[in-house]
Amino acid sequence: RSKEDGGNVHHSYQHKLHANAEERRVLEFELRNALDSNQFYLEYQPVVDANGEHAIAGFEALLRWNNPKFGMVSPAKFIPVAEDARLIVPIGNWVLRQACADAMKWPEGIKVAVNVSVDQLTSQGFVESVVQALHDTGLPAWRLELEVTESIFVRDGGLAVQVLDRLRKLGIKLSLDDFGTGYSSLGYLSNIRFDTIKVDRSFVIGAAKGKAECIAIIRAVVAMADALDIATTAEGVENENELAMIQQFGCDKIQGYYFGRPMAFLDACALFQASVPSRSVA
Ligand code: C2E
Ligand code: MG
Ligand code: MG
Ligand code: MG
Repeated sequence: RSKEDGGNVHHSYQHKLHANAEERRVLEFELRNALDSNQFYLEYQPVVDANGEHAIAGFEALLRWNNPKFGMVSPAKFIPVAEDARLIVPIGNWVLRQACADAMKWPEGIKVAVNVSVDQLTSQGFVESVVQALHDTGLPAWRLELEVTESIFVRDGGLAVQVLDRLRKLGIKLSLDDFGTGYSSLGYLSNIRFDTIKVDRSFVIGAAKGKAECIAIIRAVVAMADALDIATTAEGVENENELAMIQQFGCDKIQGYYFGRPMAFLDACALFQASVPSRSVA
């Protein structure tokens, strides 16, 4: 983690969320050969059961970019640039294949979640590339979760619904990420069955601070999800206080620094070796 946390002259760079026009131009230039020169890697953050022993249910794959000029660049900064330059399609395809291959090294039953941008989801041949990744790695479809945000329903909503429906019929799991932060209506929930809704961290923070509006929103989201037979994951639980608050709401799963930061693939694997050897954690 040392590379990310300090010692980097461009440290302040990654903390500014949005790149300005000049930065975007330079980042785009660097992004163009980042894939070919192996500047990307994945980290994995555990997603645990909200109840019982908080067993690991799966991991979310999170893309990391270590550029020779800029050092670590935050995905919050480079993903939008990659999207605009349409580089998100080849980059996203790399993420998908790498995550599926990595997940094969974990016990059966442990899932892997991959974030998918709207431009990637609606790009020509996306479903085929997912099928190919599963085929080439041997990962069963039900162990792959694709995370999309509400933004996919704002633009080109019809096409997104079609693609999600095809993915769903293949047995792939679908998650709605950052729920409650988008601008779209709830109507799409009647057109496409999500397996999981991820309640955005902003509501978790508010609820833990006793903000009545955030508490009411989480309760309403969990009640709606239950009624629709959709599971819920609370995002970004950092401490015991937030955990205690979240546990009252009946979310099914929890993800956050409290249970584990995004970590290197080998560290994720070690979480299983540390428990009872030669026994599946599923
Ligand atoms: P996301 O999909 O909502 O991922 C969760 C983000 O929250 C991650 O940030 C994770 O490190 C952070 N997080 C998790 N637990 C906590 C916590 O307890 N406290 C706090 N403060 N943060 C927490 P990260 O890795 O910087 O990624 C940011 C976003 O970039 C992701 O948000 C996702 O939208 C996007 N992203 C990351 N990897 C990919 C990718 O492969 N493809 C695409 N299209 N987008 C990606
Ligand atoms: Mg996500
Ligand atoms: Mg999220
Ligand atoms: Mg979020």
